[in-house]
Amino acid sequence: MNATDLLWLLLPLAAASGWLAARFEQKRHARQSLDLPSAYFKGLNFLLNEQPDKAIEVFIRVLEVNSDTVETHLALGNLFRRRGEVERAIRIHQNLIARPTLDREQRSQALLELGQDYLKAGLFDRAENLFLELAEIRVHSEQVLKLLLHIYQQEKEWEKAISITRRLARVSGRNMDDTIAQFYCELADQDYAHRNYAGAREHLKRALASDDKCVRASMLLGDIAAQEGKFRDAIGYWCRVEEQDMHYLGEVAGRIAEAYKQMNDEQGLYDYFRDALQRHGGVSLALAFADVISHRDGVPAAEKFIVDWLRRAPNVHGLHKLLELNLVKAPDSGRNDLLLLKGIIEDLRAQHLGYACGQCGFKGKTLHWLCPGCNRWNTIKPVREE
Ligand SMILES: [Zn+2]
Repeated sequence: MNATDLLWLLLPLAAASGWLAARFEQKRHARQSLDLPSAYFKGLNFLLNEQPDKAIEVFIRVLEVNSDTVETHLALGNLFRRRGEVERAIRIHQNLIARPTLDREQRSQALLELGQDYLKAGLFDRAENLFLELAEIRVHSEQVLKLLLHIYQQEKEWEKAISITRRLARVSGRNMDDTIAQFYCELADQDYAHRNYAGAREHLKRALASDDKCVRASMLLGDIAAQEGKFRDAIGYWCRVEEQDMHYLGEVAGRIAEAYKQMNDEQGLYDYFRDALQRHGGVSLALAFADVISHRDGVPAAEKFIVDWLRRAPNVHGLHKLLELNLVKAPDSGRNDLLLLKGIIEDLRAQHLGYACGQCGFKGKTLHWLCPGCNRWNTIKPVREE
């Protein structure tokens, strides 16, 4: 008789003993579950007497008796986590998971909760491992993938963020191409900081392949070209912003002007702003063009341009520019009045500068691609153009 045959003979015996053990367990459960109410009252008493540690001990002991109380323990753990008592939450959820009687759904729910405890405790590696395990068996998929994405964003692990976002897009049926493009831009930013321009360009190409409206990619491509002294190329990239999303034109207007100046192409500079202004109007372009005119044709010509513009579209930015131009040639006697007026206009203007999130209303002085208020990508825009 070989080992395999022996195994076949032993199998029924093993099954029978397992069955017997299970029967015994059931009887034991039935007997002990009668004690459930009193144990719970005891636990509640401890809770009411502000002795949560003792309460937890009692609840955990009850769980050993009856796995029907899993829901209660999940709720209790959740409560502790929300109150910031993460260690207690972790203890409850770890105890739950250690129970062999949990069914698949209960176990995965407990794992999901424990992962969130770890996340709250800042134990990202442990949380990540649990969420990956859950993602593997495809339960709570959307929630798990969102939590993983949260970790990768916090840890700036952009490659992983990209692959998780692709999965999340499939599971949720949402198009997340613009978010993926932002992650490629983050990778490109890292390359750029290390002067790895080839690597940055490669990542930016992928950003635009994912989202051809990605303003950020065009801006950085232009910056790289300018760094390399290729100003004509840089202008080409920055000009794409106009077609992608004209709200960001103000972000590149100054850079475009500077690149033309670097090339000593005064006519190109003048033509670009005149034509762009005809296509779009917009505050940033008008202000930049006023500077170009002032430099080429003198202050009176720039003044005339601003006054014409203000007649068509009254706004504080134009008024501010007009005062600036007037201050250049103002005699000493009238200067103080103009400065006072300029101060008032600057206060007014401050309310119309900066950036705002279209989702949560967050306002800031610098451009964030990820909103610090609502943690969404691509929701913040410059306010000046509106
Ligand atoms: Zn926001």
